[in-house]
Amino acid sequence: MGQIVTLDQNMVNMIAAGEVIERPASVVKELMENSIDAGATKITVSVEDGGRKLISVADNGCGMDAEDLSLAFESHTTSKIKGSTDLLGISTLGFRGEALASIASVAQVRAVSRTKDSLCAYGIEIDCGDKGDITPCSGDCGTTIQVRDLFYKMPGRRKFLKTANTEIGHITEQFIRIALANAFAAEAAKLDMTLIHNSKELYRLAARQTLHQRIAELFSSEIADNLIETESSEKGLHIFALLGKPDISRTNNNLQYIFLNGRFIRDKFISHATKEAYHGILEPNRFPVVFLSIQIPYSEVDVNVHPTKIEVRFYNANLVHSQVLGCIREKLLSSNLETGGKLPTTSGRTEQIAATTSPHGRSQKIADAMAEFFQKYRPVQTQQLSFSAEGKAEKSQTTYEAAAEYPAYSMQNGQKFLQIHDSFIVAETDDGFAIIDQHALHERIVYEDLVRRTSAGKLESQKLLIPEILEMTDAQADLVKANADLIEKLGIELTPFGHQRYAVQAFPSIIANAGPIEFVRDLLDLLDNKEINSDSGKLLDEILNMAACKAAIKAGQKLSDREIEQLLADKDAAEYAARCPHGRPTTIKFTLSQLEKQFKRT
Ligand code: ADP
Ligand code: MG
Repeated sequence: MGQIVTLDQNMVNMIAAGEVIERPASVVKELMENSIDAGATKITVSVEDGGRKLISVADNGCGMDAEDLSLAFESHTTSKIKGSTDLLGISTLGFRGEALASIASVAQVRAVSRTKDSLCAYGIEIDCGDKGDITPCSGDCGTTIQVRDLFYKMPGRRKFLKTANTEIGHITEQFIRIALANAFAAEAAKLDMTLIHNSKELYRLAARQTLHQRIAELFSSEIADNLIETESSEKGLHIFALLGKPDISRTNNNLQYIFLNGRFIRDKFISHATKEAYHGILEPNRFPVVFLSIQIPYSEVDVNVHPTKIEVRFYNANLVHSQVLGCIREKLLSSNLETGGKLPTTSGRTEQIAATTSPHGRSQKIADAMAEFFQKYRPVQTQQLSFSAEGKAEKSQTTYEAAAEYPAYSMQNGQKFLQIHDSFIVAETDDGFAIIDQHALHERIVYEDLVRRTSAGKLESQKLLIPEILEMTDAQADLVKANADLIEKLGIELTPFGHQRYAVQAFPSIIANAGPIEFVRDLLDLLDNKEINSDSGKLLDEILNMAACKAAIKAGQKLSDREIEQLLADKDAAEYAARCPHGRPTTIKFTLSQLEKQFKRT
């Protein structure tokens, strides 16, 4: 006799539930999505014991009549698609017709629903797939579904549920995703949404909230206030993004929200594009805060590739990648992302001290010190200067002209500045002062210069009067041969010089102050690094990064006034001066109003 049997429907549903319903948060997500598909404008989610005891979702949507209410809990029943062609253009959040049947197969469910044409509501109870009769009852227009004791007949799965705290965390995350998706919709937030846990209200979000208000309420106003808005509409793709400034970056990607046609998704192409867009703007181990909404024709994406629809398949993933990268990168590069300095916040105690000190007391002393600090000022001369090798001179000229357009560091106005500890430049700005990390800033300037020059051709080199000799292993010598073109592009001339020895005959003038031997050694290490080596663009970028770091002014290096002037002028001409190539800030700004507040002038 054969071994194969057909499973009964309830078993089929329980198995399907394994895919869709992992924990209480999955129930919340499915029920809320149904409410949205039903056109609700108000959704109340109320849970007890992290959703393990009760999950209730009430909406004011279109409701179901008695017949639909009974059908809704059968498997593969849906009002959202009819035939296979509908699968090609899904505009609703649901379409699989599985969620209610799955939920009802693993919990005790009570649903009450009423359409606007009906005189009364209808109710139904299903206990782990065991369906009761439809009965008329009282109830408002819309639908309320209560799910009790999830997995209570499946001890194996119930055991996997975590503490109420953890589960409510997951539920909150689902709630947030839907709340954001809703606020990102073209007409702004439409939904009034409430989340209640053990009778305590966690969130009450009003409809018609702006995105900014909603983000402030869901996260914090610090986050909401540090986002840069950008939008692009090209090639059938509409992108709207709120980009977190570097100051609010995170150690993980939990605050990256991507929405596609109103649905929260995870997508490796989009995540990669986002990461690339922040390259050099954030340190490599930090993650930006990003809210990104993409609208694309429904026919351009397949949402039927994952049971919970968290992943989708783009028919043209490369286009999505390049559009997202372009849109974000362009905005970031054209935004002022200089770090705002933080002065110590005034506590009640220091206020008292300030109030009781005489004019010659502590705060006055600080004010005097500050005044003296800025009095050390030198008029700036309109001369150009170059503090690296020859190659720099011609560039300094253009930089200089560009700088004249920027009043903040205007030469003519005689900007006041001061180098402190041979490492930082304190410079007066229009509305306060800035502290500049001389190494980080110069590193960025040299890096940009190197990028410009290498993209135009090869770096100009200088013959060394006395060639410098370095020893190499055979493997390193092979690397030199294999990368001959690249080495030439960098303006380095390496010639064999006896057994396992090479001579550096010429070296790029723009990085002349980096030691040739040390530079070539580090270059060989980079060439030997398989991970970087596989991508030629990345490799060159790493090399230019390293070159910039080696050639830049160091911390602890005393600078003449003219060198500082040049540095400030170059800063203004740089494409993106706010961060060094590794993404660390180059400049921290303080405003006069901050100072005035601290010194009790206001
Ligand atoms: P799907 O959402 O994929 O269609 P579900 O199992 O989640 O499948 O729901 C089945 C059907 O029940 C839906 O297609 C819809 O017609 C109906 N339904 C579910 N929830 C609601 C609700 N809150 N309001 C009105 N109708 C609903
Ligand atoms: Mg559904």
